Amino acid sequence: MTISAETQSTPNYQAILDQIWSEVAPRLGEGKVASYIPQLATVPLAQFGMAVYTLDGRLFTTGQAQTRFSAQSVTKLFALALAYTREGDAIWQRLGKEPSGTAFNSLVQLEYERGKPRNPFINAGALVITDILASRFVDSEIAVLQFIRQLCGSTTPDFDLKVAQSELQTAHRNYAIAHLIKDFGNLHNTVSAVVRSYCRQCSITLNCEELAKAAAFLANHGTVPWNNQQILDHSSAKRISAVMLTCGTYDAAGEFAYRVGLPAKSGVGGGIVAVIPGEAAVAVWSPGLDASHNSALGTYALARLTDLTWHSIF
Ligand code: GLU
Repeated sequence: MTISAETQSTPNYQAILDQIWSEVAPRLGEGKVASYIPQLATVPLAQFGMAVYTLDGRLFTTGQAQTRFSAQSVTKLFALALAYTREGDAIWQRLGKEPSGTAFNSLVQLEYERGKPRNPFINAGALVITDILASRFVDSEIAVLQFIRQLCGSTTPDFDLKVAQSELQTAHRNYAIAHLIKDFGNLHNTVSAVVRSYCRQCSITLNCEELAKAAAFLANHGTVPWNNQQILDHSSAKRISAVMLTCGTYDAAGEFAYRVGLPAKSGVGGGIVAVIPGEAAVAVWSPGLDASHNSALGTYALARLTDLTWHSIF
């Protein structure tokens, strides 16, 4: 069935996901898997899954929505939200909330901005968030994993220690970033402990169904929709979503907002999680990345979703 946008005042999510799948299937294999983490280079390229979790508890899926993938930087969203529940606006004394305009793993800005990372979604900022969590929890990565499990109501999200080890062995840039931050006095724990926890956190695997459900509290103004647990107040949820919109999709947040029009966080494993405020959370995964490190087909699928449903923030 062909969906026309005019019919979507109450979206038929399943028909729309089916249509997206029919458009994506012939394009499977586009993009490139991340290869700088050797273990991620082994992931077969031609894969795609998508899930929409609505705030009234309906789950719609297409493709490999139950296949687990490496969340990587998508975990930075949950680490930020967890740190924010504990420290609130105090975190902004140690990092900013502006787009960086530089690569996610760049050191350049950090030097002339004296160890204060631009935002929590570039690696420098995520390392500071890990440090904040490491001062509060025995193992910050376990705290992030437990938080994700709590949000999605599933115990299957877990670490992939092979991926964590693979990243740790090649984490020269992240060590360099952490050392620079430490030199400026903005890291309170040891560099090795912070980088190790960060790599383990990035190795968390989960599937699209779990990821969409885990992010639904942000679409629901800070409250988990399926058990009514308040994680953040509505103002804080708005703020986290705003940082997603401006900084969540690497150095292409402008292009992503232009095409998709939703707050989102992506990762080099090919996952993207997006929030439709007041309506749903969406997760998509396809390991082939475009030049900006966002999933190529994942971005396409989200752009089609917002065009066909009329549900974007614009
Ligand atoms: N663990 C990855 C790194 O630090 C995460 C990168 C990403 O997904 O953006 O390089």
